[in-house]
Amino acid sequence: MSLEMEKTITKLMYDFQRNSTSDDDSGCALEEYAWVPPGLSPEQVHQYYNSLPEEKVPYINSPGEKYRIKQLLHQLPPHDNEVRYCNALDEEEKRELKIFSNQRKKDNLGRGNIRPFPLTISGAICDKCGGQINGGDMVVFAARAGHSKVWHPHCFVCSMCEELLVDLIYFYQDGKIFCGRHHAERLKPRCTACDEIIFADECTEAEGRHWHMKHFRCYECETTLGGQRYIMKDGRPHCCNCFESLYAEYCDACGEHIGIDQGQMTYDGQHWHATEECFCCARCKRSLLGRPFLPKQGQIFCSRSCSAGQDPDESDSSDSAFQSARSRESRHSTKIGKNERRNAERSAEPRQSAPPPHARPSVC
Ligand SMILES: [Zn+2]
Ligand SMILES: [Zn+2]
Ligand SMILES: [Zn+2]
Ligand SMILES: [Zn+2]
Ligand SMILES: [Zn+2]
Ligand SMILES: [Zn+2]
Repeated sequence: MSLEMEKTITKLMYDFQRNSTSDDDSGCALEEYAWVPPGLSPEQVHQYYNSLPEEKVPYINSPGEKYRIKQLLHQLPPHDNEVRYCNALDEEEKRELKIFSNQRKKDNLGRGNIRPFPLTISGAICDKCGGQINGGDMVVFAARAGHSKVWHPHCFVCSMCEELLVDLIYFYQDGKIFCGRHHAERLKPRCTACDEIIFADECTEAEGRHWHMKHFRCYECETTLGGQRYIMKDGRPHCCNCFESLYAEYCDACGEHIGIDQGQMTYDGQHWHATEECFCCARCKRSLLGRPFLPKQGQIFCSRSCSAGQDPDESDSSDSAFQSARSRESRHSTKIGKNERRNAERSAEPRQSAPPPHARPSVC
């Protein structure tokens, strides 16, 4: 871990501990662990860690310690809390970040308490898995959630990402437990490009994700794409020019480029214009748009007889023959949906493309 990162984490943890609602006391220093829950006997600490998956226990110099540091930075992004970890905020945005951060610490932040479940109570139900908890079991209490809720240690996870809450730090909102990252995202959009929370009045929204207006750019040439047409490839926006020159496919029938505004059929790594002339039986030229087809040696056919090189009229391609072919899965059918081109990249299903969408600014 770099010195800079170590400083960041130390500062962050200090802040969280100072603001945490749990009754932190000195705890016990168990030197084999990078972190231990406060207020437990060494016996209880071992009992607690025994109930977590081995690879997530933060033994010094273990994969569990690496996991803890990775989760710390992921679940508690420093730029969600401190202006100095953000890039290029204007004065108004700085003010809003401070309010946002203070408000969350005041209203939602807490640290889970690990305690043996009292023997005097007959039992309880884990808030996450619904499983039985008995007297003497190590459980997590979260002050923000009230004393009626308890969790198995391995069940004390973020309701969004389902990851164990690093060092038991949680944010409680609307009856649910979140990690810092996902709690922040419930309140404000996060920029997909820079990972910072967006405080500007306007942002770009596409594919259910958000970007600062100035950060919604072509992944290749960095042209700003707000209000422009774009195409998503592997979650990254591209301008039409870059996309065409990098990724556009050639039609297997006519050999021409398939433009981004043209319909495209895709099957098993092959591409066609979604036209009757191009997406057709290799032998009789009958259109296969919206019809099942038989692939054979890189070509597609309307029927078994065409694929066998016979004239379709001479063969018995009755409905029953089609059915039996399909049930043996030698026949594949196309699905034509109004899906946009960007989906074609992710799917094995043949799809028809639609013109690329425009990036619209939305009010964040
Ligand atoms: Zn549970
Ligand atoms: Zn989470
Ligand atoms: Zn951004
Ligand atoms: Zn570009
Ligand atoms: Zn073509
Ligand atoms: Zn045919």
